[in-house]
Amino acid sequence: MRELAGRLDLCAINTATLGHREAIGTVVEAVARRGFGGIAPWRRDLEGQDVAAVARRIRDAGLTVTGYCRSSAFPAATPEAARAAVEDNRRALRDAATLGARCFVLVAGGLPPGSRDLAAARRQLQDGVGALLEEARQLGVTLALEPLHPVYAAERSCLCTLGEALDLCDTLDPEAQGGLGIAADVYHLWWDAALPRELQRAARHCRIAAFHVCDWLVPTRDVLLDRGMMGDGVIDIPGIRAAVEAAGYDGLVEVEIFSAGNWWQRATDETLSVCAERLVRVC
Ligand code: ZN
Repeated sequence: MRELAGRLDLCAINTATLGHREAIGTVVEAVARRGFGGIAPWRRDLEGQDVAAVARRIRDAGLTVTGYCRSSAFPAATPEAARAAVEDNRRALRDAATLGARCFVLVAGGLPPGSRDLAAARRQLQDGVGALLEEARQLGVTLALEPLHPVYAAERSCLCTLGEALDLCDTLDPEAQGGLGIAADVYHLWWDAALPRELQRAARHCRIAAFHVCDWLVPTRDVLLDRGMMGDGVIDIPGIRAAVEAAGYDGLVEVEIFSAGNWWQRATDETLSVCAERLVRVC
């Protein structure tokens, strides 16, 4: 496993960690000033902005773009709405390419309103991702399927485990031609008894396109917006990172913390300093 001490250039900040409170330019400068090597912006950070200009600003600051967050939901109530979702995601994929992002993070989406058909949602996900794959390959941006913890299955992600995500990769990209992989987020995967085996499976085709860290607090007051800082919860982050890197992942370690009641209340520089210290000490 890589040593992170003195190597903040191997670490990145997902802008969600800072609560989307400041303009993207300000966040880029703060992340670069603190010595991080990368940043993962969200689409909401770029609303109304010239994406090429933001890309230049990130490059000029010396940061790489570890990922672009994130797709809108693929499952939809009608075929027309499903096609519209694919086209919306296609536009975001092109922005990811403009940013020079290593991957475009795909969050599957849950059940459409009124539906109880999880299998249909998963079929729509497969069709939608399949429709984007060729363009992703041409643009050189990996579509990174991010399985979310099963507690989100209804509202956010019909893709719940690393095993399911790798199955989808194998179905759509059986020859491992590139353009498709997974985003491994410790918050979503830590509980899964199959995780070591599935990470070994991911190694065969170098499927890991992103690695996200935070922690699972006990108790967790809100499964969406009460993620913990690394070291404050129960996830064996070094154990998972060791397995992720043994599976061939050589990208950056990205901090992604949604924390309405704690970290989003703090000053940007304070949060970044604590992230830097914890990455070295407990990750
Ligand atoms: Zn994540």
